[in-house]
Amino acid sequence: MKLAINGGEPVRKKPFPAYVTVGEEEKKAVCDVIDSGCLSKYLGAWHEQFNGGEQVRALEQEWADYFRVKHAIAVNSCTSGLYCAVGATGIEPGEEVIVSPYTMSASATAPLVYNAIPVFADIEEDCYCLSASDIESKITSRTRAIIVVDIFGQPYDAEAINAIARKHGVTVIEDAAQAPGAMLAGKHAGALGDIGVFSLNYHKHIHSGEGGVIVTDDDELAQRCRLIRNHAEAVVEGMGVSDLRNMIGFNYRMTEIEAAIARIQLQKLAGLNSKRFDNVAYIEKHLSALPAIQTPAVRPDAEHAYYVHACRFDSDIAGVHRNDFIQAVRAELPHHELREQEGVKLGAGYVKPLYLQPMFAKRMAYGSQGYPFSESQVEYRQGMCPVTERMHFEELFAHEFILPSMQQNDIDDVISAFQKVWNYRDELPTHT
Ligand SMILES: *Cc1c(COP(=O)(O)O)cnc(C)c1O
Repeated sequence: MKLAINGGEPVRKKPFPAYVTVGEEEKKAVCDVIDSGCLSKYLGAWHEQFNGGEQVRALEQEWADYFRVKHAIAVNSCTSGLYCAVGATGIEPGEEVIVSPYTMSASATAPLVYNAIPVFADIEEDCYCLSASDIESKITSRTRAIIVVDIFGQPYDAEAINAIARKHGVTVIEDAAQAPGAMLAGKHAGALGDIGVFSLNYHKHIHSGEGGVIVTDDDELAQRCRLIRNHAEAVVEGMGVSDLRNMIGFNYRMTEIEAAIARIQLQKLAGLNSKRFDNVAYIEKHLSALPAIQTPAVRPDAEHAYYVHACRFDSDIAGVHRNDFIQAVRAELPHHELREQEGVKLGAGYVKPLYLQPMFAKRMAYGSQGYPFSESQVEYRQGMCPVTERMHFEELFAHEFILPSMQQNDIDDVISAFQKVWNYRDELPTHT
């Protein structure tokens, strides 16, 4: 048999089903909002409508109940939520925030919005979240916060990292964009740190097109996030706020339509996740039979939410480099419907370690003179997070064939593709 990458017949040509979670219920909820005539009810002044309209407030209540937190604050994206969270800590320009290099870029760049300096720590070899011991080695007297990420759906090491944070008096901001429904020791991911942020963008477990939700048990952080979300500078006086640190507001407001959709989506989360877990169990049973593939570890006492299924590939065992192997599997498989432009949802590595992005590598953020990096000794250079680099460039591969839209026969084709490339890997360039 010839591999598709060498001109052979691919295992499957028919696109995989689209992952569409919105339907009649969302349509009805949207129509109800339109019939009400009120698509957003925010006022950017101290007023009873400062905190938004009926749908936004209902979503916040339901979200807080579901994730068992005191406050939920809806925003227009997880990115804006992270900006709110960083500002709410009262951070000073030039202070440092420890971040992960292996995440969506917003989780590492959020400190820059406040002219604070991201400091990259390395990730764990098995779970890919920030490493507690590497965080500890990066803490200085300038550290104000740590932005941990529940990457790929794996809860961060809350026990160790929260203890380090308490010891040094720094705030833990949890980016739970990829982990709604993940749990650690009976608590929801998102609620494991001092303040957490979820995403409701189109790519996430549940979505409202765009959107985000901040969660916290801390009254003060919550109030400051609500202020930053909605024109703080115009509100503080009327509200009687005397602490003016970072009270420059933005407009991070979610509309009533998005909130109405998000409320329905939240009701679907548990069901969608349970189908996702079944798909993970099924594909793992077969993938783990291939000696070079290691399926994801799950932190003790955790439930993983599998935003993507991030596995490891051992090129020495295979005799073929990960990149060549994964390229060959991709060639055997089709894209997902509605996502043609994104290609086959399987890739070698995840995102390039963020400190290699031009903004960091060339130390150029605001204007042309390198501000705020020019005020700091913090370095960004190749080699600074060796585990991240090894995972990204050599070992890790991630795929989305576990989406709830995938049926068993679809996954069978994925498994056949991996098995075929494994069996005929001597058609690929040899790894030395
Ligand atoms: C998607 C994502 C974000 C950004 O979410 P938006 O809602 O698109 O702003 C942030 N962090 C992580 C880890 C993500 O996966």
